[in-house]
Amino acid sequence: MKTDIEIAQQASMEPVLDIAKKLGLTIDDLELYGKYKAKISSEKLEQISANKSGKIILVTAINPTPAGEGKSTVTVGLGDALQKLDKKTAIAMREPSLGPTMGIKGGAAGGGYAQVMPMEDINLHFTGDLHAITTANNALAALMDNHIHQGNELKIDQRRIVWKRALDLNDRALRKVVIGLGGPLQGVPREDGFDITVASEIMAVLCLAHDLNDLKVRLSKMVIAYNIEKQPVTVGDLGVEGALTLLLKDAVKPNLVQTLEHTPAIIHGGPFANIAHGCNSVIATAAASKLADYVVTEAGFGADLGAEKFLNIKARNEQINPEIVVIVATIRALKMHGGVAKSELAEENIDALKKGFANLQKHVDSIKSFGLPFVVAINRFYTDSMKEIEVLKELCHAEGIPVALTEVWEKGSTGGLELARKVLEIIEQDKNEFQHIYSLDASIEEKIRTIATTIYGASNVEFSTKAKKQMKDFQGFGWGNLPICMAKTQYSLSDDPSLLGRPQEFSITVRELKPSIGAGFLVALTGDVMTMPGLPKQPAALKMDVNEQGKAIGLF
Ligand code: ADP
Repeated sequence: MKTDIEIAQQASMEPVLDIAKKLGLTIDDLELYGKYKAKISSEKLEQISANKSGKIILVTAINPTPAGEGKSTVTVGLGDALQKLDKKTAIAMREPSLGPTMGIKGGAAGGGYAQVMPMEDINLHFTGDLHAITTANNALAALMDNHIHQGNELKIDQRRIVWKRALDLNDRALRKVVIGLGGPLQGVPREDGFDITVASEIMAVLCLAHDLNDLKVRLSKMVIAYNIEKQPVTVGDLGVEGALTLLLKDAVKPNLVQTLEHTPAIIHGGPFANIAHGCNSVIATAAASKLADYVVTEAGFGADLGAEKFLNIKARNEQINPEIVVIVATIRALKMHGGVAKSELAEENIDALKKGFANLQKHVDSIKSFGLPFVVAINRFYTDSMKEIEVLKELCHAEGIPVALTEVWEKGSTGGLELARKVLEIIEQDKNEFQHIYSLDASIEEKIRTIATTIYGASNVEFSTKAKKQMKDFQGFGWGNLPICMAKTQYSLSDDPSLLGRPQEFSITVRELKPSIGAGFLVALTGDVMTMPGLPKQPAALKMDVNEQGKAIGLF
């Protein structure tokens, strides 16, 4: 069996100009990054903004297992299948972070015969957007520390700084650091820490901004610290929003690439869904919908994280309302939710599958609570038995859940035709009654309770003393009417990663809140979730290499 990277390296790409043509774009609308990557110009984005919007298909999933369950793979495969059915299609996806690429997961550009290309570039440095975000994040940290060193006119309380430094790697040693050691010339000593770039508020801001101006306005609103009177200090107070926007002026433009079957894919922005809002940029989704009739886009991890945030944060922000939600499930993951150990997933186990089905049912219920039509996509693995597939289909039929088998990983677009036809058929029925599950007027506490009870199935939410105080303070600062971005483990519906399936009678603990005023949401940190991941014992990096011709090896 070929690996993802072998398949990608053996495929032939079309020049990006030919891909752009499919969307009605010409060379004048693009900024080329070599032959196969391009950014779409801001002028063109402005020009198309009055176009009619295409139909948005949101791909989400059940709670994943540590390996990832093929959401990106199905997103790409469904896009290819729609193109095969002669629908003008564009895919909108996130840019991978080097943290998981070097750590646990390998690549994040789809898999098998449903991938985006050039896979190596996309997984490594791509067009430099993540580096620009990292630089902007750290420029802000440096400018703030310099301000303190030079006299601290803003009276920043050094014990109440919330802005951290960032790096797009998993590096647990940087979670907490002390900076400014070495005497009066080396700055002011204080405790600091690093977040992974994809958890930086600048990533969220870039992904929620409509354009360069909006980006600047949002950057200026970001809270970096509190002053000695315990009032928020913002980027605007420091006066550096112009410099940060300058650093991001190219990163804000969406990137156009292609799938193995030459479907246009716009890949832009990449916040994680567990510790951030988990969706590609609004600019990318909007561009795709103005240029194509159908847009396939994904939101990270399970429907409890990425999809909830897409629907309560991103779709509220931009009225990007999806027509339908595709919920990806794998038999492997359902069996794991039914109690099977990772090492035994290849063996048929109908009982575990039936038990684990409860996890899928919960996500179906969650999507129903948004009033959205949906279809379950069974992402077929070669280890799945025919009987297991039949049983899963029957379980869905018995509950009236629309379901399609997808084999895009093995067969590309042909393996996605059943799903594509079902998606089109359901869109045609026009049963979309999309609504947000909470009103922005509700209190911070009520909003968090609604998400925890409706989407996670929790019976209670506990708030730490710190979180209670923060809710009161935030209300006082006028931030009470913002949506909530939950930070929670992806593996479980609860905040305990070991509780698989559909846990009952559990409580969610909110330990701390973080203001992301530029992004326009409040982050609620639950359980032990970390904003700087660590590397596993056997990181994916151990298998990576490059040959004498400069060709990547082992990038999954
Ligand atoms: P997610 O988006 O859910 O994190 P990905 O689509 O990135 O998952 O897939 C994770 C990995 O699983 C990839 O390496 C991909 O090749 C592999 N994968 C996905 N679907 C299948 C499948 N049906 N059979 C075998 N491997 C698969």
